[in-house]
Amino acid sequence: MKRRSLHKNKNPVWRTLRAAFLLTLAVFFLPAAVFGGDTRGGTMTEPEQVVSAEETELTAEETRPEEEALSGDTSQEEQTQTKTVKTQSVTLKVKVGSKVKKMDLEEYLWGVVAAEMPASFEEEALKAQAIAARTYTLYRMETPSPNHKNADICTDPGCCQAWITYDDRLKAWSDSTEKVFAKKITAAIEETRGQVIYYEDKPIMAAFHATSAGVTKSAEEVWGKDVAYLQAVKSPETEEQVPNYYSVVKVTTSKFKEVFEKKYPKAELGSKPKKWFGKVRYDEGGLPASIVVGGLKVPTSTLRTLFGLRSSSLTIECDGKNVTFYVTGYGHGVGMSQYGADALAKKGKNAKAILQHYYTGVEIRSMFS
Ligand SMILES: [Zn+2]
Repeated sequence: MKRRSLHKNKNPVWRTLRAAFLLTLAVFFLPAAVFGGDTRGGTMTEPEQVVSAEETELTAEETRPEEEALSGDTSQEEQTQTKTVKTQSVTLKVKVGSKVKKMDLEEYLWGVVAAEMPASFEEEALKAQAIAARTYTLYRMETPSPNHKNADICTDPGCCQAWITYDDRLKAWSDSTEKVFAKKITAAIEETRGQVIYYEDKPIMAAFHATSAGVTKSAEEVWGKDVAYLQAVKSPETEEQVPNYYSVVKVTTSKFKEVFEKKYPKAELGSKPKKWFGKVRYDEGGLPASIVVGGLKVPTSTLRTLFGLRSSSLTIECDGKNVTFYVTGYGHGVGMSQYGADALAKKGKNAKAILQHYYTGVEIRSMFS
């Protein structure tokens, strides 16, 4: 895979070339959590599933989340605006497709962890994911999304967080892996039961993503809102550990122009495509944050959205005929990197240490205390 350095100060040759035609971009989706009306949440990811084989004893019934189907008329379900959760059992309303289902929190989390993180990951990474998902769920219960006022949370990873039924999850695993994977997920949830990440005594907006480009992004950089616990921190995952760590997307200059001008009608894209791209601004972690295109300062998040790129961390090369994006990682880059969590777990870090690495200054304790 052809690569491009993303960092401002690490490649003098690239810096020189950049002046002529090589540009660096980082693009992120905007989370509904920050910009309420925007459904492109991007708080969650779609990590590639990694499957390996082993078997242990576990029946489906032991972990199957119970789902109580409610009325199909979701308008009858009224959202409670604020919930203080102190009991040992929490029930929430989950929007699944067009229906709202009542689920027990811990059982719901099985489907989230199963959908959000490869079960082949280290157990401490799965536990970190379980705690992050539990925390995000409580955050959503206390901070309702305008996208579904009749439900606490939905299963759209572009809005809230992904979720999958037990049966559907098992179908996607092979016979030889399903029992060990199901058991790992169950253990990750049970061993962290009730554990939540707090900042100033409130569940945090526990954003996570699949893969960073060596460093995470701050919420302020990506979403324009400073969040004390969502700062840029180093993330240890590498090309060797992550499938499709690097990816490339190439579009013709005419296609680029067509797509870009639809979004930015005032952009000045002249007859020489190499001159379309101007100054790059880098964030505090050294990753590209915005780029001047056609005379306009464009958030890299917009470019990611416009061209369907896997990640915001990328460089652009224009040879006059094509615009090529060289992309690193996957996801919006804020909060916990899932592959980074797995890498930290492989280094011996436990779930708590992993979470405290990615979420600055937080406390992790039981929601029942
Ligand atoms: Zn949602």
